[in-house]
Amino acid sequence: MPPPSQIRPEPLITSPITRRTVLKAGGTLLLSVFTPLPAMAAQILAVRVWPAADYTRVTLENDSILKATHFIVKDPERLVIDIEGLELNPTLKGLVAKIQSNDPYIKQVRVGQNRPNVVRLVFDLKEEVRPQLFTLPPAGSYNHRLIFDLYPVQEPDLIAQMIEKGDWSSDPAKPPMADTRTPPPALPLPESGKPPVAVAPPPEIRPDVRPDLRPEQRPEARPLPGQKVVRLITIALDPGHGGEDPGATGSRGSREKDIVLSIAKRLKSKLEMQPNMRVMLTRDADFFVPLGMRVEKARKVQADLFVSIHADAFIQPSARGSSVFVLSEKGATSSAARWMANKENQADLIGGVNVKNHDQQLASVLLDLSTTAQINDSMKLGSAVLREIGGINRLHKGSVEQAGFAVLKAPDIPSILIETAFISNPEEEAKLTDNAYQDQLADAIVTGIKNYFAKNPPLAKSRST
Ligand SMILES: [Zn+2]
Repeated sequence: MPPPSQIRPEPLITSPITRRTVLKAGGTLLLSVFTPLPAMAAQILAVRVWPAADYTRVTLENDSILKATHFIVKDPERLVIDIEGLELNPTLKGLVAKIQSNDPYIKQVRVGQNRPNVVRLVFDLKEEVRPQLFTLPPAGSYNHRLIFDLYPVQEPDLIAQMIEKGDWSSDPAKPPMADTRTPPPALPLPESGKPPVAVAPPPEIRPDVRPDLRPEQRPEARPLPGQKVVRLITIALDPGHGGEDPGATGSRGSREKDIVLSIAKRLKSKLEMQPNMRVMLTRDADFFVPLGMRVEKARKVQADLFVSIHADAFIQPSARGSSVFVLSEKGATSSAARWMANKENQADLIGGVNVKNHDQQLASVLLDLSTTAQINDSMKLGSAVLREIGGINRLHKGSVEQAGFAVLKAPDIPSILIETAFISNPEEEAKLTDNAYQDQLADAIVTGIKNYFAKNPPLAKSRST
């Protein structure tokens, strides 16, 4: 693809309106009546593009609410967006150069003043998309935002996607499965000498699996006679924030979203070195995933554990230490925990969620199931992980805390949220950006998870409520 400056400036699509003719007929008098004063036009303050396989997001940040309409044009596939009350400015023109050639959905964008007071954006697409346009009120450090989310028409199969990327091998020691219909090979006994359980084929070949059943109730969990293999444990790792939501920021400018993604990737490769573990990342790049969607993704792969990775911030830079949180059904265990949960739950406001979709997502996630058993298991997991982290960093508090974190609400998956350290503390910010420290932290979490499973094998857990 030629650089944007060399793209032939094609005329923007002319819309089938008659207004132009009216204007011609009316002459200058009409123009002066209908063209608003330049001072009234909204200003685009910033443009941002977040390309990702899940969806590509384009954000226009403005000094006031903008009204936009859109339509799709076929052959070739284009998305046309008209924004009212806007005059073209250099910031908006800068959008053209922000489209990367590896964007999964957008080939290029053309920007033009379609008619007085209306700016037209034409996105040339790589494939058919399901666009979602919505506005967000000011949140965090952002002013008003107009958001275009471009989703693929066919919702990608999470597991198929990971197999394609080489991320979802049934046996990390071997190359990824070429044929997903082949059951995973038998794995050796764990060193602990725990009684073996049956191999669970990957979810895509389990037509009989019902997500509403607890793992031990699922038919494929029954050991077959004489089978000396272990079940693959699936761990959902959730790097917090991403995309529009930077999370907390340190005094040296490091961003929580980058640090936690880096730690999660290290943790992923270390967990996958274990003979019986595989990992799904809720995000593997810099884009925003709504809180409900993170839980949904973990449930889709029938994760055995959900581990959310964050870095704290507090007003006082002296605050320090690592913490581990689990869900609470009856209020928070401390005001600090409640404060932390409220802060993390604001991610959707800053990251930007289309409210219409959001309600559907929540409805599907927040099933009317008791989370008592989940919380009991999460406490055990949390304690095991906290103990190990205590070996490498000072703990903010010596015990696992509880609060209403939205991301920990999968009713059937033990879930913890790790605040790795305080990014707002200059000393801990330096540690968090240090490769060796990130490795130590990942090692500690791996040991914690292994210790948890040593005492609570996946199929021998007490889940009775
Ligand atoms: Zn966070």
